[in-house]
Amino acid sequence: MLSKSALQLFAKSAQTAVSKPSVRCMSFELSDLQREYQQAALKFAKEEIAPKAQHHDETGEFPWEIVKKAHSLGLMNPMIPEELGGPGLNNLESALVVEALSYGCTGIQLAIMGNSLATAPVLIAGSPAQKKKYLGMLAAEPIIAAYCVTEPGAGSDVSGTKTKAVLKGDSYVINGQKMWITGGGHAKWFFVLARTDPDPKAGAGKAYTAFVVDGDSPGLIRGKKEKNMGQRCSDTRGIAFEDVVVPKENILGKVGEGFKVAMGAFDTTRPGVAAGALGLSWRALDEAAKYALERKTFGVPIAQHQGVSFMLADMAMNLELSRLVTYKAASDVDKGIRSSYYASIAKCFAADTANQTAANAVQIFGGNGFNSEYPVEKLMRDAKIYQIYEGTSQIQRVVISRELLAKVAQTGSART
Ligand SMILES: Cc1cc2nc3c(=O)[nH]c(=O)nc-3n(C[C@H](O)[C@H](O)[C@H](O)COP(=O)(O)OP(=O)(O)OC[C@H]3O[C@@H](n4cnc5c(N)ncnc54)[C@H](O)[C@@H]3O)c2cc1C
Repeated sequence: MLSKSALQLFAKSAQTAVSKPSVRCMSFELSDLQREYQQAALKFAKEEIAPKAQHHDETGEFPWEIVKKAHSLGLMNPMIPEELGGPGLNNLESALVVEALSYGCTGIQLAIMGNSLATAPVLIAGSPAQKKKYLGMLAAEPIIAAYCVTEPGAGSDVSGTKTKAVLKGDSYVINGQKMWITGGGHAKWFFVLARTDPDPKAGAGKAYTAFVVDGDSPGLIRGKKEKNMGQRCSDTRGIAFEDVVVPKENILGKVGEGFKVAMGAFDTTRPGVAAGALGLSWRALDEAAKYALERKTFGVPIAQHQGVSFMLADMAMNLELSRLVTYKAASDVDKGIRSSYYASIAKCFAADTANQTAANAVQIFGGNGFNSEYPVEKLMRDAKIYQIYEGTSQIQRVVISRELLAKVAQTGSART
């Protein structure tokens, strides 16, 4: 496994390798160091994550030991910059790690990597002092941070957020109820979106402010751990805010611009979510293909039946396409290209593929596929959430069609 210093060396060298211009051909190759790092994360997934996946799925226990080990090896918080003590990887490199860890178990991967959604708004809008304090703390220790936006009445429609923050002296007082917060039971700090403009006519672009709220603030109440269909060891909870006092210096960005900060984070985080779905599809295909070569019916391995081999071919095609568009979306972020279009295509396609691929894997396993002694029924349960969190598959299609139609209205073509 690479040490943290090796990882930093890797990050520097990889940047050099990636920036070399190619001559007359488009490069689809990772650099040697990127591949080396991907292999190190895959080794961790196979040796540390996969053997414990069933236990954590059955018990729902948060995988602290694995999280601590991942942190000590530099596999956690990959995009925290080196000057703040983090690994300093870029978006593509982070996606490679997520994909590889997800091969072992996407629930444990989320426990390790869920911080990325909370850190993205701080990276985008945080002051140097906020970055030093809140990102530096994550780099130093294996601790959890959470993105706290969804409410019982506002998920896809974030502009329906009701949690309020009212200015009193030099602090804001937050009241409201959040729901489905990943890492909510353990978070040392929360990214929180709250309404600061009491005028009901104020638009979302001006009405909300983003805050960083310390997890030990009086009045911040963590709900019970939710029992979910899949990714069961990831800690999901409701969080109540009852007169939670937050100093003004914890505002992220400017007063009234929180909606932009909260939504802007998704352009950088959706490629990572796509990478999680991709790792799951990769595992499902490997499991299904191995089983199809071993299991015999009518005197031959089932892989020799065209009905089965065509299912495997469909799984392979969609896996390869998910990988290409995920790496493309992540690379766009690294080039500074505003990438809602590709981020949503990657997230939506990889999520739909993970569901189709896991369902096909269950089908190829036959009766065994329906049984928890075999690995694929868990993959099917774990896959479902990729079509729901960080924007449902319908909301991704809303984003894609909006961007597409704006481009066509402007230039006359979807392709420019
Ligand atoms: C396990 C888990 C972890 C999560 N982690 C976090 C987290 O860490 N932080 C956080 O803030 N949130 C988190 N969420 C919340 C998640 O992002 C929301 O559940 C999701 O955005 C959907 O919102 P909703 O549940 O309110 O569904 P709704 O918005 O009520 O949607 C219901 C259905 O209607 C569809 N729909 C809604 N609007 C439209 C439209 N305009 N066009 C077409 N279809 C539409 C949706 O696609 C969906 O199928 C998590 C959720 C889960 C289940």
